[in-house]
Amino acid sequence: MVPNDLTWDEVKLHDLCEQETREAIWRIKIYGADIEDKLFWTSTSNGVFSVKSCYNILSNNGETCDSIWKEIWTAKIHERLKMFLWRLAADVLSTKDLLFERIGKGDPSCSFCGSSKETPSHLFLECPVARAVAFGSKWGLRLDSIPLRNMQEMVRWCVNPPHQMYSNLGGKDFTFLLFTTFLSIIWELRNDKVFQDKSSIALATARWESLFEECKFVALVQDYLPQPSRKAFWHPPQNGRICINTDAACTSDKAAIALIAMDYKGIIKHLAAEPIPPVRTDIAELQAIEWAASFVEESDWKDVDWLCDARSVVDQLNNSSDPCKLESWSLVKKPRDKMKANNWTISWTPRQANKSADLAAKAALKDNFSFLCSNANFCNWPATVLAQILSEELAAICYLG
Ligand SMILES: [Zn+2]
Repeated sequence: MVPNDLTWDEVKLHDLCEQETREAIWRIKIYGADIEDKLFWTSTSNGVFSVKSCYNILSNNGETCDSIWKEIWTAKIHERLKMFLWRLAADVLSTKDLLFERIGKGDPSCSFCGSSKETPSHLFLECPVARAVAFGSKWGLRLDSIPLRNMQEMVRWCVNPPHQMYSNLGGKDFTFLLFTTFLSIIWELRNDKVFQDKSSIALATARWESLFEECKFVALVQDYLPQPSRKAFWHPPQNGRICINTDAACTSDKAAIALIAMDYKGIIKHLAAEPIPPVRTDIAELQAIEWAASFVEESDWKDVDWLCDARSVVDQLNNSSDPCKLESWSLVKKPRDKMKANNWTISWTPRQANKSADLAAKAALKDNFSFLCSNANFCNWPATVLAQILSEELAAICYLG
């Protein structure tokens, strides 16, 4: 729109849209109130973004009804590999091309070769690096001989490899595991390249071979293991309560703390992180809780479930005796008193269910910047955190039903 004029910007419309779209836009009446523009998530009635609505969009395109999802979740492979396959098939893996499409910033080209967009199909099937890892392994696989157009086909192909392929390789389960571990290794290698600027094809093939052996063992003993508990994933608090995950990231010379507050509908209320002076990890974890408590009080939330992945911190806060370490005295005492005065609980959560807070703290630590985001400006969330929240929680919703 033309600023301060309340008419459509014809030049922009001409550049951006086809004739038919332009005509449709011109037909939209513009009401004259001088209201500031607001972000509005069109897939919920109240305009507020929720992971569940996002999941519904994915479900409604019919793909999630496909038996492939059931096959992934019931496959006898490591949970981590299932999650990974699911992310691939749902197309929520945060490749550079996807992030570029989603946030319109950054470089979408392949982290390895730079000669093509980093789409999953390129990264895992077409990139010379992926092909070199596949061919350089002891299995000598030729990816170019596998006729696949996209990752959904790749996942489908992994779950149900053609008879000719698996009879040459050592059976259906063997082939499934071989390709799933391959995809996971390529993603690991790509992340090493992106985040640490190091990657070695020789190391990747060696790692693939050892991961395959490790996962083969998991597949063999899986039948004797208890089913994964609900606690392995984040899940919403009871109706009316707010759930707050906190975490800290520390190195020898830096530290950062983070919090993520979500309501019982899975709607994110606050996502915040900030660098702090370097401290010991347990102190930083306590500082994260103290910091988050100020948000809780400002927002006037009474019924709060706190989740923290540092067991010693949770134990100290739940314990009624005086804190034994002087340095953490006020850091323990203050939130403990607040817990008592309010309807707050604190419990330990496994690290994998605290991943969003963990990534937020790492993002603040890495770039030494603080951020405070809410549901209303979710597109400003750091890309890694946004991708994590979407993919993990979509997986949790899908997995837990
Ligand atoms: Zn490439």
